[in-house]
Amino acid sequence: MYPELKLFIGGEWRKSTRDMSVVNPATEEELGRLPVAAKSDLDDALEAAEKGFRIWSRTSPRERADTILRAAKLMRDRQEEIARSIALELGKPLAQARLEVIRGAEFFEWDAGEAMRTYGRIIPAARGHKFAVHHQPIGVVAAFSPWNFPMSQPARKIAGALASGCSIILKAAEETPAGAIHIARAFQDAGLPPGVLNLVFGNPAEISGYLIPQDMVRLVAFTGSTVVGRHLTTLASENMTSVLMELGGHAPVIVCEDTDPQEAATFGAIRKLRNSGQVCTSPTRFFVHESIFDEFAATFTARAAATIVGNPVDDGVEMGPTANDRRVPVLTDLVEDARAKGAKVATGGAREGNKGFFFQPTVLLNVPEDARIMQEEPFGPIAVINPVASLDAAISQANSVPYGLAGYAFTNRADYIDRMIDEVEVGNLSINTLEASMPETPFGGVKSSGYGREGGSEGLDNYMTVKHVWHSVKIS
Ligand code: NAD
Repeated sequence: MYPELKLFIGGEWRKSTRDMSVVNPATEEELGRLPVAAKSDLDDALEAAEKGFRIWSRTSPRERADTILRAAKLMRDRQEEIARSIALELGKPLAQARLEVIRGAEFFEWDAGEAMRTYGRIIPAARGHKFAVHHQPIGVVAAFSPWNFPMSQPARKIAGALASGCSIILKAAEETPAGAIHIARAFQDAGLPPGVLNLVFGNPAEISGYLIPQDMVRLVAFTGSTVVGRHLTTLASENMTSVLMELGGHAPVIVCEDTDPQEAATFGAIRKLRNSGQVCTSPTRFFVHESIFDEFAATFTARAAATIVGNPVDDGVEMGPTANDRRVPVLTDLVEDARAKGAKVATGGAREGNKGFFFQPTVLLNVPEDARIMQEEPFGPIAVINPVASLDAAISQANSVPYGLAGYAFTNRADYIDRMIDEVEVGNLSINTLEASMPETPFGGVKSSGYGREGGSEGLDNYMTVKHVWHSVKIS
């Protein structure tokens, strides 16, 4: 049911002299032992990635795409096995885990297509001269993926690197290693040359501190918290190494007066609690026009309170535990701080049970601006719902955090939408839906939410460099 946990270096699986425990967050039981990469493993991974880059960057885009598509097909075929691993290690309900596997495969399929569309450009030049712009793979990528989507987060990074012709050393999350291990297996079975994809685990700070300063590493791709992203960007800057940073979010939802409050609130509660709220695009700060605030708040609270919380592998469960023992104290502190400053806890607000890292679906109403949760991303099942008197006030509140990843709005007024497109400071704005991205759309943030984009036709840009070739010929 749960795979054997190993490092994948130079096309081979290996154990290590040290290991660590991987725990089921719903039961707190051990799922497996995860090898901790030693310095010698990282050296081997670097050597393998350098060799892998030489092979893969010279492999034709079509052949690269074919390999990626074969691997994606294997992931689809293995959907149930992968989904069960994700449910066990992350605590995500099985139905959501199955969707994540498909989304991960879609990321690969999209980028495989893009591999064949990394077009260059011809620039008009004087007779006897040719100006040509080439896009070339940047080199070895050091990537770091977080635990909240064990399959689709590693997929984003591996897909971008492999489609571009780069090799990659991925340090996936130690809490949820199985998703990345299933991906590596699929690529091994699909015939990816050794060294193109390498997978390591261990102490995150030690691994990033060792890999990032290496000359051969030309891109650092990270998804995680802003504080860690800032640290890795500083490390990378020592060597002028490029970075792709997909960091935190604290998504606002502007609910205008022309919205059906019951429909939007029901949808909002369901989306908020997806993956126990541990999503960087999770809708969290709801700014609701005062004329529909009471109805919206009551409907949202009732739907959140009715959520079926339990073991993610059980039928009918809508929300599992949070992913690790770090989340519950953080969430508890944020709720207590908001309560002390005058917010109303409409439902939830505390740990659920005494086994597993469960936190109750929580709704906070009328939260004052000085409450920590108005600035800090909760990354858990907590929603803030505040009334606003005007669109001006809502936009000002939406932009009042350092983050700018996803933002949402409910309205059919074209003038409101026009203003929000211009004024809401986010990388992804969604109107009348709480979905933020698809494989074919560019995803990423502004402000402290990072820079660079994953997905869309922009998705390979960070993995490639631009080379201008000036070819001068004597015309006889
Ligand atoms: P954290 O800040 O300790 O770690 C965040 C991620 O970075 C983890 O995956 C971790 O393994 C990795 N990491 C930590 N230190 C590192 C280092 N020195 N080098 C390389 N990688 C390192 O926080 P956490 O408790 O794991 O997660 C909670 C916070 O992280 C949340 O509040 C949220 O803001 C953020 N987060 C964001 C995303 C996202 O999708 N953007 C995903 C997971 C976590």
